[in-house]
Amino acid sequence: MPTLFQQIQAGKVWDFHGGIHPPSRKERTNQKPVALLDIPDRLYIPLRQHIGVAGKVLVKVGDRVLKGQALTQADNAMAVPVHAPTSGMVLAIELHTSTHPSSLAEPTLVLAPDGMDEWRPRKPLDPEQVDLYTLLERIQESGISGMGGAGFPTHIKVNVKQPVDYLIINAVECEPYITADDMLMQERASDIIAGIEILVKLLNPKAVLIGIEDDKPIAVASLKAAIGQKDNYFVREVPTKYPSGGEKQLIQLLTNKEVPAGRRPLDIGIVMQNVGTAFAIAQAVLDDIPLIHRVVTVAGETLAQQQNVLALIGTPISDLLNACGFQAEPKQRIIVGGPMMGFAIADWSVPVVKTTNCVLAPTENELGAAVEEMDCIRCGACADACPASLLPQQLLWYSKAKDQDKLAEYNLSDCIECGACAYVCPSEIPLVHYYRVAKAEIRETQREALKAEQAKARFDARTERLEREKQERLERNQQLAAQRVAQQQASGQASQSAAAVQQALARTQQQSDQPLDKAQIIAERERKKAEALAYQQQKQQAQTATLAEDTAPVTAEDPRKAAIAAALARAKAKKQAEAQPETMEQPAPADIVAPEVDAKKAAVAAAIARAKAKKQAETQPETVEQQTPAETVVPDVPDVDAKKAAVAAAIARAKAKKLAEQAETQPEAKATPQQTLSAEPEEVVAPPDQDAKKAAIAAAIARAKAKKQQNSEPL
Ligand code: SF4
Ligand code: SF4
Repeated sequence: MPTLFQQIQAGKVWDFHGGIHPPSRKERTNQKPVALLDIPDRLYIPLRQHIGVAGKVLVKVGDRVLKGQALTQADNAMAVPVHAPTSGMVLAIELHTSTHPSSLAEPTLVLAPDGMDEWRPRKPLDPEQVDLYTLLERIQESGISGMGGAGFPTHIKVNVKQPVDYLIINAVECEPYITADDMLMQERASDIIAGIEILVKLLNPKAVLIGIEDDKPIAVASLKAAIGQKDNYFVREVPTKYPSGGEKQLIQLLTNKEVPAGRRPLDIGIVMQNVGTAFAIAQAVLDDIPLIHRVVTVAGETLAQQQNVLALIGTPISDLLNACGFQAEPKQRIIVGGPMMGFAIADWSVPVVKTTNCVLAPTENELGAAVEEMDCIRCGACADACPASLLPQQLLWYSKAKDQDKLAEYNLSDCIECGACAYVCPSEIPLVHYYRVAKAEIRETQREALKAEQAKARFDARTERLEREKQERLERNQQLAAQRVAQQQASGQASQSAAAVQQALARTQQQSDQPLDKAQIIAERERKKAEALAYQQQKQQAQTATLAEDTAPVTAEDPRKAAIAAALARAKAKKQAEAQPETMEQPAPADIVAPEVDAKKAAVAAAIARAKAKKQAETQPETVEQQTPAETVVPDVPDVDAKKAAVAAAIARAKAKKLAEQAETQPEAKATPQQTLSAEPEEVVAPPDQDAKKAAIAAAIARAKAKKQQNSEPL
């Protein structure tokens, strides 16, 4: 049993399910050389002409650009740039109708050619002298994307890591009318083979298989001549059947392999490139010519010359048609692409883009007039024709019902939109139209689902971040609180402060939560007064207990006043004592001995007062140190008493002095004490004696008040 490769070497070709044989009508254009067109007055160059994203615009309105100059820059992997097809000035960058079935407007650069067709400097590469990265970079910078299908960026498709068994070059071009690749192979076969060699260097496949329909004998001969004696290059002619040029269909034809649903050819070791793409790669690498033009088949019976033309990218379709002698009919249809997979355009100013391989301008009868759609008769002809082995009838039902689950179940994604089913449908149902609409709806649903998923991911990430920040804040606050408590505990105030803070917070909270009325305010004041009174009583009790242990402090101010009062008392007593000898020097009757005794008592009392004052002075510094701010609010009642004592002592001293003066001015009375006693006993004898006593009493009162003040002083 020969291996697959041996069968391929032997020239074996397989078949695929379904397919149709529409009239090819290729003979109209496949015998004429590719025509060169005049440079049009305006070029409309869409900034994105491939599957992917547009590059960054490098020019601005008013700039003069050279032929081949990059107009955009590929700033990510899915971007490929566009280039100036000729030299000229940038007129505008604006929205222009796209060359797409949707006819949506898209950003387009409008270029006014200057007719000089002046090239920028070019730097050809030798593929044998540069590395793979340089080749890939050149392919991307030249703006090359797939030219035979959807326009996937070529530099991504050929940058593979897994081993490649077969590189398949698609030269089938199975759709009716289209002969662009055929003519390219006839005229530029050697360039195409040069491009294939660059691909071989990038992919290193076991074999190169060039698939081409057997209705292109000239192209086959040209390719075989260009290949020469190269090993493992095989040109394989396949039967003319539509759609042999479908990717999965051609793989099956050349290798008998089926690409599983939802998978890529690379998954089974196969890479496929279009013959036009191979030509573009050769031009980009060997001549540094970016993708600025392509061969386009212009056909239809409304044209005077049906032919292939080398059209600049950006050429308006109307210019292309006019260059071929277009005579429009009423209800004229213009189709971009072939009659099977192409689409009609309403705006004929849309431009030629990189994937435009054909423009048809048929007469009304040429392709058959559009007829009314009829009901499905369930004949099953569509299923027989489907090259993807799908069930077009069921797909039609579910497309109309918008049942996306069922459409997925019936593998709508494997539909290549070849139109074979619609071609055979006796009810004239435009099946492909329904499938395209359904695919667009599915893509929109998937986009919405992706956006929702991304939004949910962002929401989850935000929620997680907020929670994390909240937790971090909480931990930080706890650490700070712990540090504060530790500091407060170290200073011995933690509990009081915490309690005070808690009480203040509780009061604040209570006030903020519930506004107080007048009665409540009064009650609150009374409560505060009661708390203050209780606090004072508690403090006094504590001071009393402390004084009992002889450790009671006094305030800094009051003891000083008490000391002053005591000093005044001492001075008074001293002065009294000094005045007393003078009195005693007078002739003293026997009955004036008693005053002398009182003076001694006053002196003793003054000495005691001095001793106490001294003791107070010694205990004062400790008291000052122990004083707290709360103590300063206590009323200063002892201060007033001390003043009174001082005043009393001063009065006593004044009286004593006056008494002494009177004693000096009344010698007779002293000489006759008998008379003195008999005449004015209280005025002569009693005053000195009584004043001394009063002074002593005043001093005692002062001392007692000072002592009481000490006892009543808050801690
Ligand atoms: S070919 Fe047309 S009529 Fe026949 S089953 Fe398919 S959709 Fe229905
Ligand atoms: S258009 Fe789709 S369903 Fe119809 S024949 Fe082609 S692949 Fe099959």
